[in-house]
Amino acid sequence: AISPRNGESATRRKPPPVKRRETPPSSDPESSAQSSENEAEDEDEEENDDLAKIMNKLPKGVDPQSAKQILNDIVVRGDEVHWDDIAGLEGAKKALKEAVVYPFLRPDLFSGLREPARGMLLFGPPGTGKTMLARAVATESKSTFFSVSASSLTSKWHGESEKLVRALFGLAKALAPSIIFVDEIDSLLSARSSGSEHEASRRSKTEFLVQWSDLQRAAAGREQTSREKKEGDPSRVLVLAATNMPWDIDEAARRRFVRRQYIPLPEHHVREQQIRRLLSHQHHELGDEDIQVLVHVTEGFSGSDITALAKDAAMGPLRNLGEALLHTPMDQIRAIIFQDFEASLYSIRPSVSPDGLKKYEDWAKEFGERG
Ligand code: ADP
Repeated sequence: AISPRNGESATRRKPPPVKRRETPPSSDPESSAQSSENEAEDEDEEENDDLAKIMNKLPKGVDPQSAKQILNDIVVRGDEVHWDDIAGLEGAKKALKEAVVYPFLRPDLFSGLREPARGMLLFGPPGTGKTMLARAVATESKSTFFSVSASSLTSKWHGESEKLVRALFGLAKALAPSIIFVDEIDSLLSARSSGSEHEASRRSKTEFLVQWSDLQRAAAGREQTSREKKEGDPSRVLVLAATNMPWDIDEAARRRFVRRQYIPLPEHHVREQQIRRLLSHQHHELGDEDIQVLVHVTEGFSGSDITALAKDAAMGPLRNLGEALLHTPMDQIRAIIFQDFEASLYSIRPSVSPDGLKKYEDWAKEFGERG
């Protein structure tokens, strides 16, 4: 199956129901207790009903098997990310709210000149929060979130990937409002995937661009057709794509992303915010000065490098224990101290070199918006 990435293995992904039904809290505790008894059975039945309904809504030409695959592997449920979970990136958050979240919540306000863009590209060094942002957008806009890694789309699915792309867009319309998040979009839209040995990826690229154009055309501010009413609203489907290698995307595809948002490495105050947040609720003895030193030495670290550093340092108190770890009571485990971070800094290094960073900055200057 297409493997969703980064921690999504922990996400519960089960077959439908795919719905954002909000059950109003029952004011009567007894009735709610009773209802929970029958819930499992009801849920099974509802799931089948839902599946049938969704399948019925799918546009012609969508392979039902592929659609089921997408529902199982690509639709992400649970494990919500909220804006506040993401340190910094205020500019990017603002752009995403304006471009996606508000239009999804108030479609009536965002038509005509205010018609939102159908796609946004998030680019920048790895581990800077692009995936987190996409997930927060889905949470905050109450949308169905389809998360797909483009490299697995092209590599694992070979002949099937075209069908899958069609099913992806078909389902996104049927379950609108939807966010289609394509990670590593460079591998799908790169200039290089045109050689004959990449026939399969060339075909999925073409299919992707065709489907996406259809969305853009359909959303261009005209009345919905009766087919669209049946098959879902294409104006409430948005493609969010992320890449660590924006320069690999071919020019024509790049131009399709009207919005290109740079997601840079965290600045001083953002690193501080993140470090403080990671340490909160932890038994530690780092003072303000220690934290300032850490903020200083982690210049050039990405958000995920900082998380890795803090996780490694948090292991410090346990490492010193050796075998005694197995029977030492919790309250006798020493606090995390500055020296634990110092030790971890030997092994956890920034993933982006200064040269690498310059490449992003240059590309951002030429093609991007800053966030
Ligand atoms: P990307 O998609 O840019 O490669 P992710 O969004 O997958 O990066 O981030 C990877 C991990 O790094 C996250 O799960 C989180 O633990 C941490 N991280 C990265 N950026 C941030 C941020 N801005 N705020 C908080 N945590 C972050």
